[in-house]
Amino acid sequence: MTDSSLRLESTYANLPEIFYTKLSPVPVSKPKVVIFNQKLAEEMGLDLTQLNPQQKADLLAGNLIPEGCTPFAQAYAGHQFGNFTMLGDGRAIILGEHLSRSGKRFDIQYKGSGRTPYSRGGDGRAALGPMLREYIISEAMHSLGIPTTRSLAVVSTGETVYREDELPGAILNRIASSHIRVGTFQFAALHQEKTISQSLMDYTIDRHFPESKDHGNKALALLDQVMKLQADLITHWMRVGFIHGVMNTDNMALCGETIDYGPCAFMDSFDPSTVFSSIDHQRRYAYANQPVMAHWNLARLAESLLPLIHENRETAIELAEDSLKAFEELYKSKWLAMMGNKLGLTKIEDQDEELITELLDLMHEYSADYTNTFLDLGQKELPAEEFYISEDFSNWHNRWVKRLQQEGGDSFALMRSVNPAVIPRNHKVEEALQAAERDDLTPFHHLLEAATNPYESGENLNPYQTPPSPKEKVLQTFCGT
Ligand code: AMP
Ligand code: MG
Repeated sequence: MTDSSLRLESTYANLPEIFYTKLSPVPVSKPKVVIFNQKLAEEMGLDLTQLNPQQKADLLAGNLIPEGCTPFAQAYAGHQFGNFTMLGDGRAIILGEHLSRSGKRFDIQYKGSGRTPYSRGGDGRAALGPMLREYIISEAMHSLGIPTTRSLAVVSTGETVYREDELPGAILNRIASSHIRVGTFQFAALHQEKTISQSLMDYTIDRHFPESKDHGNKALALLDQVMKLQADLITHWMRVGFIHGVMNTDNMALCGETIDYGPCAFMDSFDPSTVFSSIDHQRRYAYANQPVMAHWNLARLAESLLPLIHENRETAIELAEDSLKAFEELYKSKWLAMMGNKLGLTKIEDQDEELITELLDLMHEYSADYTNTFLDLGQKELPAEEFYISEDFSNWHNRWVKRLQQEGGDSFALMRSVNPAVIPRNHKVEEALQAAERDDLTPFHHLLEAATNPYESGENLNPYQTPPSPKEKVLQTFCGT
């Protein structure tokens, strides 16, 4: 077991002790590997092939902790739907940081690993459906070229978890560049001791932004870097119609990876106000509001950094506001470039924004499918659908074709590289998860195969490309906590 290729460190445990609690996962009665991501294991330089199935399940469930490890749960705080709360890993434990052969550092985390001091009223456990949901969506996001935490394995526990129903329990092995969140900085700032926030800032810069080490104002440099990563990340989400669902500050990672897949989903027909989360009554985290919420979260990060930005609070606020101001423009330019690419345009010109927004307005009006519309536009001929034969669309289409003529290169190739052919549509995800709960993993594996090759097309993919019928439509997804 210990001679596995795990190379674990726990540099996070060098931070002041308030940032974590050392403890091991609570063992589970009958761990069994439901799915293991061999490709990811190889990327990480992890070789578990020496282990027999039981040893592998024990390791991935946290029943067996390799010698010399110091597992811990992280402390953090966060704004949940706008309200500030103390949080922390209530059902997760980090085994340590694995170093790949190339020296890349990955947190290995057990999600669903039992109660911790941060569990509040929760049972510390997770159900199979939501863990498989995180597995498939995070792996699809990675294949779409979007920064994200990854999923190494899902292990069933042989135990029942009690939610509205009795559900099979499971543990997800989550892999992340780190689990440092905006909420971790909020937690640090609560202590009103500069050295505490300073230690977290120095650690984060060391781990993720070493180029900012010698910057004259490290806190501002950190804020700028995180802003850039978030502008990139949200632009990617908007590109593929991804709706995170719970953009609380504890679910925004400073490393710029998508984290915490709860009631997330991909949009079918285009509607900027789309929300899936069953608890987001105010549509706070609706599709079109995601950049606004990212900016809001970044402002919370900036607030937490104020004492480190400048010793004079007024000056610190001024400097932070100056930095934050740049976000809107930064995001807008990335979004425009991305939308331009979706339409085969390599460079945005004066009239292009109008061309883009007019198409989106029409798609909204006609409830056109977000993914398929861009896919269809990249084909030689458009299907004879109501939307495409409408006069509104024809007018737009003529203008777009004219605009494309100014482009030199292969616009369709550009479009194919940014417009996915397959996304894990919510009704297909739900169908696969329901089958998995009945011990039938075939639909899950088929969907995973299609969703992890998202830019490939072929007739066999039709079932994954067809939007849900009104009856199939899943309107709400639950957190599954
Ligand atoms: P999330 O909505 O997954 O971001 O979780 C928000 C907070 O609730 C985090 O502090 C989680 O660790 C905690 N939490 C979620 N589910 C549970 C559970 N079943 N038991 C204990 N804590 C939980
Ligand atoms: Mg969370």
